[in-house]
Amino acid sequence: MHNRDAVFLEDLCPKLRNRRWRKSLHEFTGNSCIYCGKTSESIDHVLPRSRGGLSITENCVPACLSCNGSKTDNDAFEWYRKQRFYDPRRSMAIKAWTEGDILLALRLLKWAQPKPIESFKKSKSKFNVDYHWQAA
Ligand SMILES: [Zn+2]
Repeated sequence: MHNRDAVFLEDLCPKLRNRRWRKSLHEFTGNSCIYCGKTSESIDHVLPRSRGGLSITENCVPACLSCNGSKTDNDAFEWYRKQRFYDPRRSMAIKAWTEGDILLALRLLKWAQPKPIESFKKSKSKFNVDYHWQAA
């Protein structure tokens, strides 16, 4: 009963539903652009609306303004491959997202996050320690 009421209310207020839905997309990726990892400030249609892309979760990804503006009406995968920040793991994540497997997409995105410099330094110094230990 409650559920049906909620759906009915949201149908009456498509703007409210739209805003909530967009917010939830940004929350999926922790407000980061699915293409480059910067702060997501917009929703990008993987298959552009001009080519019949629908405004559904499977076709809409969080994107920064720079990526969204640069991609325009290009096919997302074609465009993304040409970018300097192209990451095959992110490409796989976008593919999973468009197939409706958001959980897999998020796992791939986590994997694609660049390592913080601090931990890189740590692993490097650890390597040196191991090396000295082996040499001695
Ligand atoms: Zn971006």
